Amino acid sequence: MVEFDDPGYIEERLTAAVKAAEEFRDKYRGKIASFGAKEVFEMYEALNDLELQFDGPISYSRLRYQADMNDEIASRLYDKFRNTYSSLMQAIAFMDLELGALLKEKPELVNDPILTEYRHSLEKIQRRTPHMLSEEEEHIIIAKDLNGVRAWSMLQGDWLASRTFDIEIDGEMKTLPYGEIIGLYEHPDRDLRKRAHEVVYEGLGKDHIVWASAMRSVFADHLTMVKVRKWESPMTQSFISNDVDEETIVALLNTMEKNVGVYQNYLRLKAKVMGLDKLGNWDIDAPLPNSPEKKYSWEESREIVVNAYSDFDSEVGKWIDEMYERRHIDGLVRNGKRSGAFCSTWHAGQSAYILQSFNGIMGDLFTQAHELGHAMHAYLGTRAQKPNNYEIGSCIAETGSIFGELLLAEKLLVKEGTKEEKQAVLAAILDGFGGAGYQVTTRVWFETMLYEALEKGKFLDGETISNFWLKAREKMYGDSVEWLPDMRWWWTMKLHFYIANYRYYNYPYVYAQLFVYAMYRLYKEQGKEFVPKLKALLAAGSSRSPRDLAAEIGFDVTTEEFWQKGIDQFSEFVKMFEKTL
Ligand SMILES: [Zn+2]
Repeated sequence: MVEFDDPGYIEERLTAAVKAAEEFRDKYRGKIASFGAKEVFEMYEALNDLELQFDGPISYSRLRYQADMNDEIASRLYDKFRNTYSSLMQAIAFMDLELGALLKEKPELVNDPILTEYRHSLEKIQRRTPHMLSEEEEHIIIAKDLNGVRAWSMLQGDWLASRTFDIEIDGEMKTLPYGEIIGLYEHPDRDLRKRAHEVVYEGLGKDHIVWASAMRSVFADHLTMVKVRKWESPMTQSFISNDVDEETIVALLNTMEKNVGVYQNYLRLKAKVMGLDKLGNWDIDAPLPNSPEKKYSWEESREIVVNAYSDFDSEVGKWIDEMYERRHIDGLVRNGKRSGAFCSTWHAGQSAYILQSFNGIMGDLFTQAHELGHAMHAYLGTRAQKPNNYEIGSCIAETGSIFGELLLAEKLLVKEGTKEEKQAVLAAILDGFGGAGYQVTTRVWFETMLYEALEKGKFLDGETISNFWLKAREKMYGDSVEWLPDMRWWWTMKLHFYIANYRYYNYPYVYAQLFVYAMYRLYKEQGKEFVPKLKALLAAGSSRSPRDLAAEIGFDVTTEEFWQKGIDQFSEFVKMFEKTL
């Protein structure tokens, strides 16, 4: 019998994976140009087989390390995993390039009935192809970018990580690195939160010449690439990689813009609950001062979360319970474990693994429900799709997880009796939506303003960039929040803005949030009739575009009317929050 946690065995399997991928490459590379539908189908099938065959050992070598980074064997396996992964990616890189060339010659292949299952994969390749340059040019760009435009985000990250900030805590002066001082933003002591923001942004603002220089260069580089790659606008690249279209995103963003008042109203109510005339920017994401410090045991958490999912659907409830029963959730707090939580799909096993550090506070229940929502997605998707059709893009990836949080909130609102408990539950979801929906929309507006300014030939120095940020912020918050003057430098710390070829990283968060709230609203309207619709959407994986997936269950994401449903649901929660006052 094979010992599956024998490191020697895992290493052997990883070596075998690379060998198999290289055999795959040798079999197909340079030959795709002459392929018909049947050969393309067989190639996809072979790739899926490879993935299923080695999914287990690859996941194991990655997850074991995340669970215990101090373990010597785990580190050894993780190192092997990283090398394996990079070899695998290199071995199959030819496929999309050659398929792109093939589809240019024979576009009719996309609609060939033999390839129905892989149609959307091919459509995605087809959409990228017109913007690709020659192989030689692509190689030069990759090589030059490495130490060129890609270096700015490294500079930004290193610069931020090497800053230190002096702050007085409990009468004692402390010098903290950036990663530590931001932990104070959610501290129950209001004055400390305020000072932490003051110290950080006053410090970051001093280097605005460096930050502006980096940001200007990354944005200007993107505009150059817009021309070179013949993208229609600075947003086109993001539409292609997120598998969405302009019509949809315009409708989404218009809906957010029309409803900033709903968010401002919530922020005013939150001020009231906190006993303030107005929130300071240091209060926006802060916990409520009277939050009950209730603790839940592992078993209690399991019962509440499983029931929340079972109320939605008994089959899903059974899978969620199975995740606990088979010990696929690693909740133990221990040294050497990766911080944060995540869920990893195990395709071959039609299941998933979750890592979290469970301390029993309400936030941990929400995290558990969130990650188990990813597991629900995995259970449905891996049963219905081959690996190639289960590569979920960022607009859809959070559908199960955010939906699961709402199912939990519903359960907790019934269960928890006191006013403070209800407020804490509602604030948890309202702040979540406020952050990922509204606050992120502000960043989309800001990003657009910067491209427009650059296109008009404006020079973006630190002050100019800050003024654009203030303009976007004003549009979102109106007069609902009081801002520290140095918050004008907020944009300096946001790494995403500095990452090359990662433009408009932001709106998928808004999409996900509003999409799920709309889905939840429809669930409340349609009841049990809605359940198979959501399950079908999750089971479809990445086999269709987000727009088509929604259309199949009767929703048109290109209309503001659809997105308004999401806002209506948010408003509903705000009203419930108001009632607790
Ligand atoms: Zn998630």
